[in-house]
Amino acid sequence: MSAQSSPPRVADLVLKGGLVIDGGGGPARVADVALAGDTILAVGPALDALGARVIDVSGLVVAPGFIDVHTHDDLICITQPDMTPKISQGVTTVVAGNCGISAPLLRFDDTVDEPFNLLGAPEDFAYATFADYRRAIEAIAPRVNVAALVGHSALRVLCVDDLSRPATPAERARMDVLLRDALAEGALGLSSGVFYAPAWAADLEELQSLARTVAEAGGVYTAHIRDEREGIIEALQEAFAVTEPSQAHLVLSHHKCAGVRNWGRAAETLGLIDQTRRRQPVSLDCYPYTAGSTIIRPDLADGEVEILINWSEPHPEMAGRTLAAIASDWDLTQAQAAERLMPGGASYFQMAEADMQAILSHDCCMIGSDGLPHDKRPHPRLWGTFPRVLGHYARDEKLITLEAAVHKMTGLAADTFGLNERGRIAPGLKADITVFDAETILDLATYELPTRPALGIAQVYVNGVLSWADGSLTDERAGRFLRRDTPIPSAAPR
Ligand code: ZN
Repeated sequence: MSAQSSPPRVADLVLKGGLVIDGGGGPARVADVALAGDTILAVGPALDALGARVIDVSGLVVAPGFIDVHTHDDLICITQPDMTPKISQGVTTVVAGNCGISAPLLRFDDTVDEPFNLLGAPEDFAYATFADYRRAIEAIAPRVNVAALVGHSALRVLCVDDLSRPATPAERARMDVLLRDALAEGALGLSSGVFYAPAWAADLEELQSLARTVAEAGGVYTAHIRDEREGIIEALQEAFAVTEPSQAHLVLSHHKCAGVRNWGRAAETLGLIDQTRRRQPVSLDCYPYTAGSTIIRPDLADGEVEILINWSEPHPEMAGRTLAAIASDWDLTQAQAAERLMPGGASYFQMAEADMQAILSHDCCMIGSDGLPHDKRPHPRLWGTFPRVLGHYARDEKLITLEAAVHKMTGLAADTFGLNERGRIAPGLKADITVFDAETILDLATYELPTRPALGIAQVYVNGVLSWADGSLTDERAGRFLRRDTPIPSAAPR
């Protein structure tokens, strides 16, 4: 419970007779949930409504609102605050600023440099400080809560004169000042993306020094590792080495074994992660698809992985076609065709289903959509991730229990990211609640029809306010900027 708000005594609303999955991973139970203002007042069987409005939710699941721990919603939450792709899935909180890519402090004139162009257009980058960014979110009140990481690549662009080399001690000190300022303003931690060009040249010393600051503040360090293909073990070792000295809580972003030659290696990477977790805190996130999605990069066009073009600035007519077909039409190699299509975005069918399932079902794996909200033809994970985990993987495939699936997207996420007022159905916590039908919940977004809303999300409450009801946005938005509540324990996890 937060220190600044004592919960009101009288309920406004009672969700009656639902199957409560409280987010802690334990078994579902039938109970009423009473809300008062923005807070959960009581949870129990046959609560006395005492004049509160009662909504019969019998036959439906009452779960904590889902936390999308891996997003690039930094600016879309301000420019298109209804956040329909997220609220329609039952998501009530997004964590922005992943993969080293964050928006505050950055400015662009005519075009936004890659990979920051994943976040929006030049005019959207309008925040001189992290505090300005936070205030903009508070002023607009997006449909969902927003928490944010500071991107290491953004810090490099701001502080490092030559991106082709590691930061000098003086540049490291400048990055540290900006990072500390953002952490003081409520940033959850730092994200790095040494996979991407602006951060490629960063060395261990540079990354370790920033990780130390994150650890001191009790934040998290999320990492889009250098190589998710054949060099994955070395890339994981690099990420572990970054956070090991400071014991910062490392979150390996969108963990995957990418590339045909790398298929079948999830047991190896997860084994290494389990071994490492005995000496330092490490968690994962993943999305429930076998295709990844990012900017078009010729080095990823290996001729083995199928690549679907989602958008291309010079050749918008190629959206929805495969790179192989385009290359054949143009009489080019796939890498050459990719070069000609840049800048743009693509989906890469680069993972094996069995690997993805092993990762998704791992104890320390959270759910992060990694959805790209500006893509005109996005990867379906933007609209489908959470219902796909609950409907397809938990209910239909029985890969994990429904309770475990909910835990991954609520309690586990809140614990890992230090959002201690969220992620569980319990008295005193904030009333972020998703009511869904476990029988019908399902993602409908596909690669062909990527923006179809999911089925089965009945009601979504954000800070106690009904924000999505039976397939539609409601009149009110109630999302907040979320600060880190308390330091995250830095001891090695169980
Ligand atoms: Zn990433």
